[in-house]
Amino acid sequence: MKRKTGYLFDESYLWHNTGSGAAFLPSGGAIQPDQPHAENSETKRRIENLLSVSGIKKQLHVLDDITPATRDELCSFHTPEYVDRIKAMSDAGGGDAGELTPFAGGAYEIACLSAGGGLTAGRAILNNEIDNAYVLNRPPGHHAEADMGRGFCIFGNGVVTAKTLRKEFGLGRIAIIDYDVHHGNGTQKGLYDDPDTLVISLHQYQFYPADTGFIDEIGEGKGKGYNINIPLPPGSGHGAYVHAMDEVVVPALDRFAPELIIVLSGFDAGGIDPLGRNMAHTETYREMIGKMKLEAEKHCDGKMLVLHEGGYSAAYTPFCGLAVVETLSGIDSGIEDPFLGIISGMGMQDLQPHQAEMIAQSAALVSGIAPRKT
Ligand SMILES: [Zn+2]
Repeated sequence: MKRKTGYLFDESYLWHNTGSGAAFLPSGGAIQPDQPHAENSETKRRIENLLSVSGIKKQLHVLDDITPATRDELCSFHTPEYVDRIKAMSDAGGGDAGELTPFAGGAYEIACLSAGGGLTAGRAILNNEIDNAYVLNRPPGHHAEADMGRGFCIFGNGVVTAKTLRKEFGLGRIAIIDYDVHHGNGTQKGLYDDPDTLVISLHQYQFYPADTGFIDEIGEGKGKGYNINIPLPPGSGHGAYVHAMDEVVVPALDRFAPELIIVLSGFDAGGIDPLGRNMAHTETYREMIGKMKLEAEKHCDGKMLVLHEGGYSAAYTPFCGLAVVETLSGIDSGIEDPFLGIISGMGMQDLQPHQAEMIAQSAALVSGIAPRKT
């Protein structure tokens, strides 16, 4: 029997060591050491654990034979000098990939396996072994730039996956939708002049990186019109996210008619995330993924690849991950989100006028996408 939803995870993703400090800052001066780094293995381990305990994992097509990304594949986005620098630092015991991206020895191989997770699951989708997949990979990727790591990201998993799969399978149009609470600056930069890759990022307005993610960043050259940012005011909740999907993401996908949808799935927009200041909950993620799944069914036989990004509440991210996997697979695990009542009851979860005003500015950009026939 064909199992339509793939799931990819590897123990070594948990072995990527970001050290200690305080939240996302290294220790030193007044910053006392020995707090785990914000991007640590626990959130990912607990998603994997809940998928197992819920019983849903055994109903998925488990992809456990992961092919690491090669140096050439990484260099479809990154400079060779950067890739070699990361390997040398990793071999020497670790360092920082650029900005706020600490790593220990062995991180190079794990980062290759993280990017390789996207490639492996993407190949399974494009070879029609599965319809869609959740890749619970680490380190994350959407902040990494061609020649520097940023924001806990070493290699740009989404960009490397899109560029490599396009080449291998002769793919035309690929849409990348990023709902992580931070702006996907690396994905934007890597594909800024590419009209065949539509990049849409929903993120908290002027957060991290603070100098990117604005509405007027729409792409350049032939790629003009194919980069859409949806900055959301801090405090945006379920209503704002669903409205942004309905007003921007869905109509944009309808005009673009992708042959593959890649979702960059960060759960740090969740209402109790320690880093983000938005208020999404499991029903928000369920609705967002559900709407994109319908778009994938409409335009590309359901081909949708979901790659993990941020999400720093060890308590809450497992339920968000389960909601997304349930929606992708159509399987109800029977487990209810125990936090849903409290988070969905937070004030101003409904769409607020100032949020609608900002989303309308992003919606106006959809007409810049040339309509295509499916
Ligand atoms: Zn994030």
